Amino acid sequence: MTRLWIPEKELTPFWSLFITLSCTSNCPYCVQNYSFLHGRRDIPLKGILQADQWLKINDINNKPKSLVIQGGEPLLYKDLIYVLEGLDTFKQLQVITNLTMEIKSIAKKINSIKTHIIKFECSFHENAIDFDTFILRALTLKEAGLLGSVRMVDANHSKTLEYIGKFADYDINLLPLFQVGFTEEGKLAVYSNVEASNLIRKPPVLCKLAQVLFSPNGDIYNCCTKLYWGDEQSSFGNLVTGFEIPEGYYICHDYGFCNPCQIGYMDVRKKDNKNIKVNKKILFSNPPIGVHSSKY
Ligand code: SF4
Ligand code: SF4
Repeated sequence: MTRLWIPEKELTPFWSLFITLSCTSNCPYCVQNYSFLHGRRDIPLKGILQADQWLKINDINNKPKSLVIQGGEPLLYKDLIYVLEGLDTFKQLQVITNLTMEIKSIAKKINSIKTHIIKFECSFHENAIDFDTFILRALTLKEAGLLGSVRMVDANHSKTLEYIGKFADYDINLLPLFQVGFTEEGKLAVYSNVEASNLIRKPPVLCKLAQVLFSPNGDIYNCCTKLYWGDEQSSFGNLVTGFEIPEGYYICHDYGFCNPCQIGYMDVRKKDNKNIKVNKKILFSNPPIGVHSSKY
């Protein structure tokens, strides 16, 4: 029987700009690859917006106060500073980085921006960077007042505990992320939302997501899975050429492929729920090659 994901309280809106899907690392648990049955070989999304074009987000009404800038690795986007400086209609920007790139000169430039707050949310990936380099860069950000948080995917619990101690020696609180990890046999497993993310397709559902997600080419989605799939039919338009902001419930044919990281932002109900007004747009299943197509 399908277990649905009904939140206990109203979902908080989450807006995020995926400025590039390219990355300096290749983590075995990367959520970007997750719904590709762990075997993604291409990036279906084509194109990338220029820095000026990203500033069109400033013109959208009813935005939340903060915006997340993520990737891939956002520091790979060459005009990142220009974008961060220009998105001044937000009170706060949070940049998610793996700190594999030099941060000192970036911190200096960011510190001169006084119109809005910019913080770095730093993810420590053991396979991507050694601890000593990471801690030096995290401390540089901390001293500059730019460190938001330090997180680590809890793929191996005893190692996570070890690192919590090591970061504590530098007065840094390491936040473990529990969504994905590995079984004792070394198989990737989902811990936070098994039913929604076990890569087994379920009958269609009604899904409401509090997310507004901008893909690298400006296409707008409400679901990470559809964004990573580059599923244009599920897009709500493009930042440059015209769009609508997704809201309310849509029929989705991909329940079972939900990205493990978006569990806190989704509200999934039975398709025959008569009390819910459903949007006309239907998010049909349109997975790229390599992902099972729907039997529903
Ligand atoms: S650093 Fe993040 S985006 Fe890059 S491969 Fe690792 S998990 Fe994926
Ligand atoms: S795949 Fe996305 S839109 Fe579909 S049910 Fe899961 S979270 Fe909702």
